[in-house]
Amino acid sequence: MPLSLPFDNSYARLPGHFYARLDPTPVSDPVLIALNEGLAAELGLDAEALRSPMGVATFAGNHVPMGAEPLAQAYAGHQFGGWVPQLGDGRAILLGEVIDRTGQRRDIQLKGAGPTPFSRRGDGRAALGPVLREYIVSEAMHRLGIPTTRALAAVTTGDYVIRERGLPGAVLTRVAASHIRVGTFQYFAARGDLAGLQALTDHVIARHYPQAETALELLRHVIAAQARLIARWMGVGFIHGVMNTDNMTVSGETIDYGPCAFMDAYHPDKVFSSIDARGRYAFARQPDIAVWNLAQLGSALLPLMGPDENAAIEAATAELHAFPDLFRDAWLAEFRAKLGLTTLEDNDPDLIHALLDRMAQLGADFTNTFRALANGSARDQFVEPEAFDQWNTGWQARLGRDAPGAETRLRAANPAFIPRNHRIEEAIQAGLTGDFAPFHALNAVLQQPFDHQPANSAYARAPTKDQIVARTFCGT
Ligand code: AMP
Ligand code: MG
Repeated sequence: MPLSLPFDNSYARLPGHFYARLDPTPVSDPVLIALNEGLAAELGLDAEALRSPMGVATFAGNHVPMGAEPLAQAYAGHQFGGWVPQLGDGRAILLGEVIDRTGQRRDIQLKGAGPTPFSRRGDGRAALGPVLREYIVSEAMHRLGIPTTRALAAVTTGDYVIRERGLPGAVLTRVAASHIRVGTFQYFAARGDLAGLQALTDHVIARHYPQAETALELLRHVIAAQARLIARWMGVGFIHGVMNTDNMTVSGETIDYGPCAFMDAYHPDKVFSSIDARGRYAFARQPDIAVWNLAQLGSALLPLMGPDENAAIEAATAELHAFPDLFRDAWLAEFRAKLGLTTLEDNDPDLIHALLDRMAQLGADFTNTFRALANGSARDQFVEPEAFDQWNTGWQARLGRDAPGAETRLRAANPAFIPRNHRIEEAIQAGLTGDFAPFHALNAVLQQPFDHQPANSAYARAPTKDQIVARTFCGT
C-alpha cells in the first residue's frame, strides 16, 4: 500500500521557475538507521507507517508518497564572499510540506536524494558520515532550545558514493520551517525578476512573518531573528563553519550542518572547517558575517522598497544598523543567564568578558566551565585556578546582589552535554562499520542536555589530547 502523508505544498504552488520538479533517484538497498518518533508525532505522522517498508522506501527516495510534489529549489548565494548566481538544491529534494500539531507549516526534504538540474558536477548524494553528523547536531541544537532544522530519519542506501574514497551513502530526512535562504532572494534579485522576488516575499511574509506588511519590515524581522539565533550559537560555543548566504535561512533556523563544531577549549578565533583557511567563519566573527549576509538580503529586497532607490537604501541600511544592538542585547541576555543573573547591572558585560578572556587565555573548556559554575568546581577547569578565583570574587559579590536560587538557574542555562567532536567522530567511525550503537547512545544523552546524568558523565568529558578533533569537513 502506498504511504500517504497529509501534504499541503505551498512552495509547489509558486511559479514554475522557482524550482525543478523531479522525483528522487532510487537507491539499491535502503535500511533505516534512525526514525525520530518524537518529531514524527509533532508532525502528526504515524511512526509505525514510517517504519514500515514503504516508510523506509520513502526516506530513501524509492517511493514517492501520495500527495508529495517533489522538487528541487532554485537559489543563489555568496560562498566565502564570492558570488555564485546559481546554486540550488543539488542533492536535496523537497517532498512537500505538512502542517504540524501546532499549526506550523514544515518542509519535509530528502538530503542526498540524487542528482537534480542544480547538481552542477556533484553526484546528488550524501555520505553516511555527514548524515550522521547532521542528525546528531541538529537534534542536539533543538534540545538546547536553539532554532534549527530537524532530523526525521536517516537511512543507508546500500550504494557507495565516491569522495576521496568510496563511502557508504545515506539519505537524511530534514524537516524545516522552510528551506528559504538569503540566497533564494538573491537568485531572483540578481536576475532582475521582480515578479519572482515579489512572489517570494509574499510567500515568506505569509509563512514566517505575517505581522510584516512590506519588504522593509520583512528585512527587519529576519535581522532580529538572526541576531537572536547567532547569540544563541555563541552561548553554546557553536561554530557553524560555512555561513554562506545560501546557508542562512530567513526563518531564523540554523541550517546546513557541514563543517560545524561545538568548541571544547574556548577561543574566540576557533575555526574547525577544513575549507575555511582564512577563518572567515571563525567563532567570534559570526555576528559580523551575519550582518554581511543580511546586507545581501537587504540589497536583494531593495527593488521592492519603493521607487526612490536612495530612500530605499537609507531605510534598509538603518535596519542593518540595528543588528549590533539587537545582537548585543541577545548576547547579554544569554550570558547573564549563563552567570545565573536575573537583574541588570552596568558592569555585567565586563564581568562576562573577564571570564571569557581568562578562559581563552588558559584554554578552559567552554561547556564544562559554565556548567561547573553551578557546583563550585569551575576553578578545576583552569590550568591556573587562581585566574578563576580572582574573577570569582567579583562574581560572588554580583550574585549576592541578585535573586537567590542561582544554582538552579545556572543548571538550566548551562548544558552539561553538547555533541562534542570526538564523540561525533566516534559515532561516525562505528557507523561506517555498520555499528550504530554509539550513534544512538550519543543521541540519547543529548536529548536531555541540561539534566544531571551521572551514568553518562563520560559524554560530558572534554577530549584528551589524542581524542581532539581539530578539523571538520563539509563532506559534499
Ligand atoms: P553546501 O556546501 O552543502 O551548502 O552546498 C552548496 C551547494 O552545492 C548547494 O547548491 C548544494 O546543493 C550543492 N551540493 C553539495 N553537495 C553536492 C553533491 N554531492 N551533489 C550535488 N550538489 C551538491
Ligand atoms: Mg547549503
